[in-house]
Amino acid sequence: MTGSGDGIDAKSLFQAQSGLTYDDFILLPDYISFGVNDVDVSTNITREIRLNLPFVSSPMDTVTESEMAIYMALLGGIGIIHYNNSIEEQVRHVERAKRFENGFITDPIVLGPDNLISDVDKIKEEYGFSSIPITEDGTRKGKLIGIVTGRDIDFEPNRKLPLRGFMTTEVVTAPKGITLQAANDILRRTKKGKLPLVDKQGRVVSMVCRRDLITNEIYPLASKDKEKRLRVGAALSTHEDDKNRLAELMKVGLDVVVIDSSQGDSIYQANMIKYIKSKYPELQVIAGNVVVERQCKRLIAAGADALRVGMGPGSICITQETVAVGRPQASAVYHCARVGRESGVPVIADGGISSAGHIAKALALGASGVMMGSLLAGTAESPGEYFYEGERRLKRYRGMASAEAMLAGGAKRYFSEKDKIKVVQGVEGFVPDRGSLRTFLPYLAQCLRHSLQEVGCRTLAEMHTALSDSKLRFERRSPSAQREGGVHSLHGYKQPPVPGIS
Ligand code: GDP
Ligand code: 5GP
Repeated sequence: MTGSGDGIDAKSLFQAQSGLTYDDFILLPDYISFGVNDVDVSTNITREIRLNLPFVSSPMDTVTESEMAIYMALLGGIGIIHYNNSIEEQVRHVERAKRFENGFITDPIVLGPDNLISDVDKIKEEYGFSSIPITEDGTRKGKLIGIVTGRDIDFEPNRKLPLRGFMTTEVVTAPKGITLQAANDILRRTKKGKLPLVDKQGRVVSMVCRRDLITNEIYPLASKDKEKRLRVGAALSTHEDDKNRLAELMKVGLDVVVIDSSQGDSIYQANMIKYIKSKYPELQVIAGNVVVERQCKRLIAAGADALRVGMGPGSICITQETVAVGRPQASAVYHCARVGRESGVPVIADGGISSAGHIAKALALGASGVMMGSLLAGTAESPGEYFYEGERRLKRYRGMASAEAMLAGGAKRYFSEKDKIKVVQGVEGFVPDRGSLRTFLPYLAQCLRHSLQEVGCRTLAEMHTALSDSKLRFERRSPSAQREGGVHSLHGYKQPPVPGIS
């Protein structure tokens, strides 16, 4: 037990009447008895979904579409597809992520011998793959008669020719019912790219891909569902007609839905949660946003599987200035996480994470995950193109309640569509290039492992126990202590190299 002179516990830190945020305090170190790579930062992001990394990307139209969601999940986190788009577009993003990596593909796309090469081109454009089993009648009810792969049709200039002249008819198959392990062994042995599994009548019932074997090795932390497909989430409003949106998203295998309201403690959200939990009991529901205990209690009672915490801390957000309601983020996370813990409902700290250290602080206050917008908007995997301003390579990043996003239909989180006067609650800005998520996310994870090691905790669960037992110690930082904690007193300095930042 740390001596009483060594800082204060979280309860004492937050019993002060003024609100605090991440920069206002620091974590005090404790004894290290293990290596940094022994630290395990896996977490339950909702009651049922466990991830290897506690990272979630924001449902914003400059942050999460399919590419971000795919790489968030491959690397161990999860992405939430925004809903500033049509139902079809949102469904397509979710479906791309769900189809990206598989164990058994239980609904492989098939074509018939009379389909044209251009039909394969369309599938390639839509889903990104081009190996297609060919069946007698072009459906999964017909017998398998061949397979077409990209290499069979790559150099054919006439895309209007039928596939029968290009397909390979000697297909290595395996019987329905074999294990994934056995199927993978066949792929390794035969050196084939695809293994269709067929029933006694020769119909394709599923397929296994060599690429998935390789992906498994490159991304050992990937977040996957029972069928070994990547996990993905999507955002939804509380509007009645979004029930149709959800019905379509469910058809492509959505894992988790975020009910996206800036102030989530409403009758509309409670009703939406109850509706979802009764209609789709297996779907995990992240409710919010909340910042005070009474809001958490009501959403938990309505059936929330996780709470999203934050009102006003976002980098692009002007809510606290325009409507004067919200809470400093560290206080919000600490108080909401305490309520969540009592009911076994994880809390996700959303917004205001502007450095790796903020992630550790949010988790130290009891959060089970962090949701990030600005930090991820500058990666190659976010939507949009880079551009230069002088020497700086930048990307656009905008609030979902900024004038620009509202014009594109993004005001659902904040207002009713019928409101005549809309009050802008976000801005449009630019963020620096952060390189690829493939280097940036592992870097953030390693920073977090170092933080846990330095406070003497091997897992997030241990850190949360230390938090409630008052073993985890904190100290307030005065403004001059905050200055001291950054780079200071130099004439100039070179930014330390950060993976992925050019
Ligand atoms: P291809 O050779 O062009 O088909 O592409 P790859 O084998 O490199 O990648 C295909 C990826 O898409 C794998 O991760 C599959 O699990 C995934 N996938 C999902 N659904 C399907 C499907 O219906 N057919 C194919 N071929 N791949 C699928
Ligand atoms: P960041 O990581 O950039 O600090 O914050 C991202 C979070 O800000 C999002 O997950 C969302 O909760 C919130 N947010 C997104 N757009 C807006 C907006 O226009 N106004 C406000 N008030 N918050 C926003």
